[in-house]
Amino acid sequence: MNEVIKIAVLGGGESGVGAAVLAKKKGFEVFLSDCGEIAEKYRNVLSHNEIDWEENQHSESKIFDAHEVIKSPGISEKVPLIQKLKTAKIPVISEIEFAGRFTDACMICVTGSNGKTTTTQLIYHILKKANFNVGIAGNVGKSLALQVADDNCDYYVVELSSFQLDGMIEFKANIAILLNITPDHLDRYENEMQQYVDSKFRIIQNQTENDHFIFWNDDPIISKELRKKQIQGKQLPFSSKSKVEEGAYIENEQVVINLNNNKTTMSIHDLALQGKHNVQNSMAGGIAARVLEIRKEIIRESLSDFQNVEHRLEFVARVHGIEFINDSKATNVNSTWYALESMSKPVVWIVGGVDKGNDYELLNPLVNQKVKAIICLGKDNSKIIEAFTGNVENIVEAKSAMEAVGLSYQFATKGEIVLLSPACASFDLFDDFEDRGNKFKSAVKAL
Ligand code: ADP
Repeated sequence: MNEVIKIAVLGGGESGVGAAVLAKKKGFEVFLSDCGEIAEKYRNVLSHNEIDWEENQHSESKIFDAHEVIKSPGISEKVPLIQKLKTAKIPVISEIEFAGRFTDACMICVTGSNGKTTTTQLIYHILKKANFNVGIAGNVGKSLALQVADDNCDYYVVELSSFQLDGMIEFKANIAILLNITPDHLDRYENEMQQYVDSKFRIIQNQTENDHFIFWNDDPIISKELRKKQIQGKQLPFSSKSKVEEGAYIENEQVVINLNNNKTTMSIHDLALQGKHNVQNSMAGGIAARVLEIRKEIIRESLSDFQNVEHRLEFVARVHGIEFINDSKATNVNSTWYALESMSKPVVWIVGGVDKGNDYELLNPLVNQKVKAIICLGKDNSKIIEAFTGNVENIVEAKSAMEAVGLSYQFATKGEIVLLSPACASFDLFDDFEDRGNKFKSAVKAL
């Protein structure tokens, strides 16, 4: 009789529980372990599927008994348990790698330092409109593994963080999208930018000449890396600066998507997503849709009626002529740069939180030009105060969203904007970026 293959899953969140359910369904012996508490809804799923699990500990005897380990992307490669598993030569993979083994669906995969969720949702929106049998996976909704277990679609649009990519070995993206690379999460990569770049480029591993690689041509880090690499998939760049032969570019305020000498055009003013960064996201999504041979009218319609995702340059309200914008998901300097860049009126800027090694100097030109007051919303605001003192007259501190909104309302006048775009993670004062954005919105609504 064949030996039963044992799988250990580390992490009892969406991806771990999804992987455990799929593994069980495929006849593996499964053990799930989480060193913290597992949420009740996941405990119920595990029990319902008769999966052996534990919480608040890692029983090494059981974990090291596995033939393969599926690791949640939240667990760093550097933690002793993962290092020990590697020394013991037990393969450690990601949930996406595991799920990919059990489906032949076309995989449209999106990565980048910023814009992943927006672009993933946008492509999903286009494919839905075109009546594709499509699922969305990654940061939102159900894990890929659970979808493969339950309702295997023909297409999946998958958002991939570098942490997911790190655990991917044989998985292949049929359409790979690399939006941009700027420093982020370097704490998980020994402060080595090249390690982070290598991780992002895993999105094209295993591609053949029948696959497609869509990338931002104006990104200096991507361009430098491409010069070193042999790319197998068909390259489809997008650029705001120069015309590309095949891919997408801007000409006379029109987005032009050119594939096989066949062009789709639309005015940048008709795009639902506004701001330079979002033009890039729209170009990436438009190219993917053309690769999938979706009708031009559907592409144009979808790019113009897409509803932006919450907490990303989200309009909240206009109070006495002051516009409030929630960009709580801007957790690094680059995303905040684009937020400030797209502001066309004087800004009262709410910034701060957990600093991930930010270089605020990059923002100074925009701050000089557009920001009239800064409200720091973090426990330790010293770096921000130091960076902008002398450039902005009013810099004050707040310890809650309510206080920050109250102060911003005093500084802003009719025709101006209050922008929450923190450039920092949120864990010092909030549960996560959603909690921060929601508290900001509630405070605005209470004005
Ligand atoms: P991610 O999933 O990569 O974190 P999101 O779509 O959630 O990206 O957006 C995160 C932040 O980055 C938001 O503040 C958003 O306005 C900004 N952003 C979106 N697309 C881009 C882009 N292409 N370049 C830079 N910033 C972007």
